[in-house]
Amino acid sequence: MGRAFVYVILGGGVSAGYAALEFVRRGVSHGELCIISNESVAPYERPALSKGYLLPEAAARLPSFHTCVGANEERLTPKWYKEHGVELVLGTGVKSADVKRKTLLTTTGETISYKFLIIATGARALKLEEFGVNGSDAENVCYLRDISDANRLVNAIQSSPGGNAVVIGGGYIGMECAASLVINKINVTMVFPEAHCMARLLTPKIASYYEEYYKSRGVKFIKGTVLSSFDFDSNGKVTDVTLRDGTKLSVDMVVVGIGIRPNTGLFEGQLTLEKGGIKVNGMFQSSNSSVYAIGDVAAFPVKAFGEKRRLEHVDSARKSAKHAVSSIMEPDKTGEFDYIPFFYSRVFTLSWQFYGDNAGEVVYYGDLSASGSTFGAYWVNKGHVVGAFLEGGTREEYEAIAKTTTLRPAVEDLTELERQGLGFAVAVSQKPVALPPPIEVSGSTSGLLLEKPLYAWHATAGVVLAASIAAFAYFYGKRRRRW
Ligand SMILES: Cc1cc2nc3c(=O)[nH]c(=O)nc-3n(C[C@H](O)[C@H](O)[C@H](O)COP(=O)(O)OP(=O)(O)OC[C@H]3O[C@@H](n4cnc5c(N)ncnc54)[C@H](O)[C@@H]3O)c2cc1C
Repeated sequence: MGRAFVYVILGGGVSAGYAALEFVRRGVSHGELCIISNESVAPYERPALSKGYLLPEAAARLPSFHTCVGANEERLTPKWYKEHGVELVLGTGVKSADVKRKTLLTTTGETISYKFLIIATGARALKLEEFGVNGSDAENVCYLRDISDANRLVNAIQSSPGGNAVVIGGGYIGMECAASLVINKINVTMVFPEAHCMARLLTPKIASYYEEYYKSRGVKFIKGTVLSSFDFDSNGKVTDVTLRDGTKLSVDMVVVGIGIRPNTGLFEGQLTLEKGGIKVNGMFQSSNSSVYAIGDVAAFPVKAFGEKRRLEHVDSARKSAKHAVSSIMEPDKTGEFDYIPFFYSRVFTLSWQFYGDNAGEVVYYGDLSASGSTFGAYWVNKGHVVGAFLEGGTREEYEAIAKTTTLRPAVEDLTELERQGLGFAVAVSQKPVALPPPIEVSGSTSGLLLEKPLYAWHATAGVVLAASIAAFAYFYGKRRRRW
């Protein structure tokens, strides 16, 4: 039994949805495109799972957050796929792949062949068992990667009114879940081994702002230790959590957010891997010319950093998808992907965005001591602003830091940068620069359920732009020195 398609997308998550939209926009014919996903629903905006989905009232539910509403584009319901002749093979895993023969074997025993394959398999949540702790199967132990995890978490929340939760892990999943639990009136203790939350991205100073805010909402932190074991009742539910430092906490539920691992397994030994993902070039083409990889699973060249990165962010999933489709369908008109990483989070009434790289010296601005304030930081590496973080900004201010990170202005005097604070980014962003023409794989406009980078072009800055800003930065640096 088998079917053949021109284009097959393996995986049915965020990047798959955005790739499908791009294929259809570029005129794919009925019956040419197939998406195979082991999820039972059409692609959706995954970030909604830790935000709107967990709200106690007016919670987000499908079909409201199918892709591509997060980028304020069309909402691709199952009907949309049908109308556009896109075959959705849902609830079906791919259990093996043969890139030489260009075939995939599904869990239902079907062989699906392709001319072009896009790997969009994303990542899976790391399990406690991989760290030597048993108990993931207990009904009150929850992870959060897909909609079935989210439903299990909602059930656990609803079964524990006023109860106690332990959140294992201080990354963004842990932080966003903890906030949702508090909103659901559950008492939360967060446990993680690092010295502060969001350790991969945030500096201790910025992290401390969020931790203080969380504490003001009743969250307790136990840092510098890890989960050691669970106690279970006769029904197999976890009743107590024991930490390596000897602390014992009685719980009604546990949420685990200890990282993810890209789903590369089907292609190991067949495609070149790098940074834990599938290595692709600036066109998202893997070491096999018929196979592309996008989203969380792809390690692609980030020009601005001069190295390959594997990002785990929704914006990169969306944009890599569009670019890969463009590369496949119009290779001669598609340049190399030029992207500045963008990441965001929203918890309680707080909201932040981060652009670029968190490398180099950090220059803070704004009031990090006051709750509800606007503050941020620049990262300055080798004399250039390479990253920017902003909490509580306006739309224009987020636009300004996005643009500044793209332009990478030269900065000689960090004290002056600190003094100017957000005003520096605003000034940089208001300077007219020669922008390159819009890329064919442009991003989108305003966010609905989700945030998005405010400048579609921030992923597209090219040589002309760099040259313009270098001149401006020189002028600007001189001018500042005269002040
Ligand atoms: C709860 C949550 C909140 C998030 N919040 C944010 C946020 O606030 N900001 C942000 O920037 N990013 C956020 N992210 C990250 C963002 O959602 C991911 O970067 C994005 O989903 C990656 O898209 P993807 O298409 O690569 O992978 P995914 O969306 O994970 O899709 C992968 C798909 O492949 C399928 N699949 C895998 N293997 C197989 C197989 N063998 N056979 C068939 N199907 C397979 C999976 O079932 C899934 O459908 C969040 C992620 C989660 C889980």
